[in-house]
Amino acid sequence: MNWNVILIRYGELSLKGRNQKLFEDRLIRNIREKLKDYESVRVTREHGRLFVELGEHPAEPIMELLKDVFGIVSFSPAIRINSQIEEMEQTAANIFSSYPGISTFKVESRRADKRFPIRTGEINPRIGSYILDHFPHAKVDVHHPELEIKVEVRIKGTYIYGKETAGVGGLPVGTSGKVLLMLSGGIDSPVAGYLALKRGVELHAIHFHSHPFTSERAKQKVLDLSQTLTRFGGKIRLYVVPFTHIQTEIRKHCYENYSITIMRRMMLRIAEKVAKQYDLKALFTGESLGQVASQTLESLQAINDVTTIPILRPLISMDKTEIMQIAKKIGTYETSILPYEDCCTVFVPEQPKTKPTIKVCEREEQKMEVEELVSEAVEGIEIVDFHL
Ligand code: ATP
Ligand code: MG
Repeated sequence: MNWNVILIRYGELSLKGRNQKLFEDRLIRNIREKLKDYESVRVTREHGRLFVELGEHPAEPIMELLKDVFGIVSFSPAIRINSQIEEMEQTAANIFSSYPGISTFKVESRRADKRFPIRTGEINPRIGSYILDHFPHAKVDVHHPELEIKVEVRIKGTYIYGKETAGVGGLPVGTSGKVLLMLSGGIDSPVAGYLALKRGVELHAIHFHSHPFTSERAKQKVLDLSQTLTRFGGKIRLYVVPFTHIQTEIRKHCYENYSITIMRRMMLRIAEKVAKQYDLKALFTGESLGQVASQTLESLQAINDVTTIPILRPLISMDKTEIMQIAKKIGTYETSILPYEDCCTVFVPEQPKTKPTIKVCEREEQKMEVEELVSEAVEGIEIVDFHL
């Protein structure tokens, strides 16, 4: 089918005034960024809708890319033609025949350009009869058609639409402020990052790296995952924190069963400091209640206790299978399951405490120079930027 434009619908209903403008401007910017390899493609705005003008490019690969853009509710490929009834009939018939296996249809037209001489009430039956005349298997069904052919007569010409494809929804990335994702090389945290992006935040990520206990390949996994997330987020900044000294200090001084909890508390202290420094408004993690020993309510309480910044956990109620499904859909799963050890698996105690208490954490931490260790780690941060 020779589609020459894609119509994009977005969540206008819940938006008003200034927000709407911000939302639209950002969505347009994000779509342009996503389609930047298609130089002759144009994105335009008209009456609460966006249009991607395809020029010579086929619609399919571009529609694939639009499926990754948050803020899009749905989209339809369309053909823009001159507003002439014969051309409309023929184009609608072509669209009908381009969906093999479909027989029931309905035509629905709108006449925004009142200069067009034929009224809506007459356009529908005219185009409908044309299709019925040319395709013996075609049937009109006004209630549950398999294909709704929409015709919009506008000033610039007439648009005739094909099937609607659902978008990912959510809010355009960049409309909700900036957050810091705690990104490990595992399955969960990249999914948490994806769900953060879905709510329109700009994503920064922090990774704790324990070289040489963990290999360069373990770090490379996190770099690769960050790159994958740019598919949905455009650009992502990663802070890589040297964590080895802290881990050896914990091992040397602290009660072994508390090592995971204390390690997490150290991570949070560092993450909070980075967040304050770069104006990041919340932390996101991949924790899911009850998934492992360190994710009980008691653990979450002991971990949270060291910070005041909001810690958001979009996976908190999800089962591992649900999380894995999303990971596969967004393309992070294959990287996440690569076997390289991460900093938490290197020092796993035999019996991690499932119900740690804050009191014991504090007692154990007094054996280390917490403040100095945090500052030293923050000073050693390496920043890596990723973009589409
Ligand atoms: P994931 O699959 O995200 O690694 P997990 O099931 O392995 O999660 P944990 O190891 O308990 O769970 O980690 C819980 C959360 O803590 C992770 O989802 C992530 O947000 C954060 N986290 C763990 N390790 C690191 C790390 N090395 N760097 C940054 N964040 C980390
Ligand atoms: Mg992990």
